Amino acid sequence: MNEAIMHFIWSNRLMRPGEWYTQSGDRIWLESPGQHNHDAGPDFLGARLRIGKLWWTGAVEIHWHAMEWYRHRHQLDPTYNQVVLHVVWEGSQPATRFDGSEADTFVMKPWVDGSILDHYRQLMSEGGNFPCAPQQGQVDRSRYLAMLDRGGLARLELHTRRFREYLQRCEGDWNQAIWIGLARSFGLKVNSDAMEQIAFSISIAEIRACQGHFNLIWSKMKEQVEIDSTWIRLRRLRMRPASFPEHKLRQLAVLVAHGLPDVYELLSTSSPAEVRALFKSMSSIDAASHNLPSSDDCFSPTTLQVFIINTLIPALFCYGEEHHLPQEQDRAVQWLEQLGPEKNRITNIFASLNVHANNALRTQGMIHQLDAYCQPRRCLECAVGAYLLTRTLNKRYAKTA
Ligand code: SF4
Repeated sequence: MNEAIMHFIWSNRLMRPGEWYTQSGDRIWLESPGQHNHDAGPDFLGARLRIGKLWWTGAVEIHWHAMEWYRHRHQLDPTYNQVVLHVVWEGSQPATRFDGSEADTFVMKPWVDGSILDHYRQLMSEGGNFPCAPQQGQVDRSRYLAMLDRGGLARLELHTRRFREYLQRCEGDWNQAIWIGLARSFGLKVNSDAMEQIAFSISIAEIRACQGHFNLIWSKMKEQVEIDSTWIRLRRLRMRPASFPEHKLRQLAVLVAHGLPDVYELLSTSSPAEVRALFKSMSSIDAASHNLPSSDDCFSPTTLQVFIINTLIPALFCYGEEHHLPQEQDRAVQWLEQLGPEKNRITNIFASLNVHANNALRTQGMIHQLDAYCQPRRCLECAVGAYLLTRTLNKRYAKTA
């Protein structure tokens, strides 16, 4: 058991309804638990509550044991003068502030329904990637799908942030930023950073100047790999030969030697299908004449999908943001909904739990959910986790307080 569950109970006002009293016997009325503060300082800021006859707006500090106020040396820190209530699980020591006054103390333990703690223990004691797996039968599919939609949007925001960084490093050159994202897509998971760095070292102007001359582009790329061999480590761990980095780099060189569409041409297409059509002629380039296995597309449907999801759609979203065109941002989200679901290890995990995605927004949501919440066990911050913890409380209980 830890303070995280106390934070969850406090912020969602899940204490049993009734007349709550401070350690010194004053009644408490809680209007707002305040904003959860994830930075330094008290745990909740801007809480609004009445203690006895007085209304307060201030901070709330939460500890498992009342003595932790002193173990954390809050009595020596003026920041904690704003604490109006010290919420503890147990212990009765008063909390003395730096200015010598005392914050009221509320002991939460008698007011918490044991079922919340049981459900929390059950979640936290599960092994594996997905702690709620044994309980997934109790969660309505629509809850999981709503969670995946939110996760898909959060992942789009992460990809957009990376695209903005490209733009910044490229001094606003959108074509250069797209070229870097394209190279990254060819790196698969293992070599994406290395491919990105190679692309940063070759400008789109150089690429365009060499258009139609594969050998020139290929030698520039090889030169970069050799020059930067100390910091670019293209790895071939556990890969099929077709995915070896030198092979992917060669495919990239073939593709860009053929010529890349202009960024505005790409962004003005009406759908991912139209983007695919733009690249169609490139995917059928004669691979064998460039020392590539003839069975390989230079731009396989999987790599193209990665490029569209990780670079092109974020670029469209970013474009909408920069030009105050919310309809372009909506279009970016619609593109994710139009793209078919991805297939990978993570989507297989969700499928084994009978959670299926019908588009790329939701498969992106799966990746985000597993990486950001399930594996680090942030179940208390997840809508499904919150539901599992509170499902047995009656609605009146959950809302009162
Ligand atoms: S974070 Fe949410 S979806 Fe993931 S395991 Fe925990 S409760 Fe389940």
